[in-house]
Amino acid sequence: MHADVCVIGLGGSGLACIDQLLRDDVSVVGVDAGRVGGAAAGRNGGLLRAGTSLFYHDAAVKYGPDRAARMYSATVVERERLLSRFPSIARRSGYLRLAHDSEEERDCRAHLTALRDAGFPAQWYDGPLGRGMLVDDDAVIDPLARCRLEAGLVSSAGARLFEQSPAVALTPGAVETPDGVIRCRLTIVAVDGALVSILPELEGRVWPTRLQMLASGPHPPGQLPHAISTRWGWDYLQQLPDGTIAFGGCRDVGGTAERTTDGSITAPVQAALERRFAEVTGAPPSVTHRWAATAGYTADGLPVLGQVRPGVWATGGYSGTGNLFGAACGRAVARLALGWATDSVID
Ligand SMILES: Cc1cc2nc3c(=O)[nH]c(=O)nc-3n(C[C@H](O)[C@H](O)[C@H](O)COP(=O)(O)OP(=O)(O)OC[C@H]3O[C@@H](n4cnc5c(N)ncnc54)[C@H](O)[C@@H]3O)c2cc1C
Repeated sequence: MHADVCVIGLGGSGLACIDQLLRDDVSVVGVDAGRVGGAAAGRNGGLLRAGTSLFYHDAAVKYGPDRAARMYSATVVERERLLSRFPSIARRSGYLRLAHDSEEERDCRAHLTALRDAGFPAQWYDGPLGRGMLVDDDAVIDPLARCRLEAGLVSSAGARLFEQSPAVALTPGAVETPDGVIRCRLTIVAVDGALVSILPELEGRVWPTRLQMLASGPHPPGQLPHAISTRWGWDYLQQLPDGTIAFGGCRDVGGTAERTTDGSITAPVQAALERRFAEVTGAPPSVTHRWAATAGYTADGLPVLGQVRPGVWATGGYSGTGNLFGAACGRAVARLALGWATDSVID
């Protein structure tokens, strides 16, 4: 099989990359080791929070105000694209960063000031859930439905997608899978937490980290009108339209054991999720589902985004906040690989 570009990984980032490649009029084959959206992209909290994994004021200090603003703006573009493309599964819930204690409340104020100073809308929240900082424009999505719908759209636009087709070897101009070889001018690897398994030279730059969640219900619909993160971002939740609450986090409780590709849930983190659920919502959960998945993390919170070998490009390592940032990076790596851009969203 031949294509101009082979994209490895059919999560939100790989699918956005494919969408961009098709807009640039090149032929694309996409492969996934499992199902479309079968990894983190279809199993996450569904928060469409603009920005990187760092809160905006921290990003501005660490990356510089201009770079932080560019990255934030790129994720705003992706958020709006998802809201307009998929109105049946995405909604503008707002994102509330809820202060866990007085120290975090002070930090929420600094966060709010930095966003406003940069011209991004946000407001103070003082309401039934507590106090914090609210970005009204942020949103939530059904993450698996998003991947499936995106896959349908890019397939209709001409991409050839193959599930259950792991890339087992990359050789110059070819991607090998157990069922055949894809000959391609360019290869783009968009597998986030699995980057090192395909590109071992990235060892140390990006590593897999397990994130765990639970679902609880039924709860009265509308109890939590906003997507929420709290406790410095360690914990996050959204309430689905049917009242179910999806609650994730407590990775700090698991410690270094969470630095793994093992997608099993663990008792300490799940127990902590139950405790935190009760603290945040005011009642213990009625757990219906528990799950885990792997995301790629980096030391500075910035993803890998660039050419790794001649003709082989990679994106990944969104440090747990990749629904928007991953899609922005997927588009950016497509433009870089094709030579249409010389710098990207993270430069
Ligand atoms: C529990 C959890 C909750 C999260 N909550 C949020 C949230 O609320 N908001 C947010 O913005 N982010 C969240 N994240 C992070 C977000 O899910 C990820 O950053 C994002 O999904 C990354 O998307 P991706 O397409 O790059 O990678 P993935 O979703 O990991 O997709 C990569 C794909 O590559 C495939 N693959 C791997 N190896 C191979 C191979 N050898 N050959 C072919 N295919 C391969 C996998 O099967 C997979 O389908 C969460 C993550 C987790 C785990």
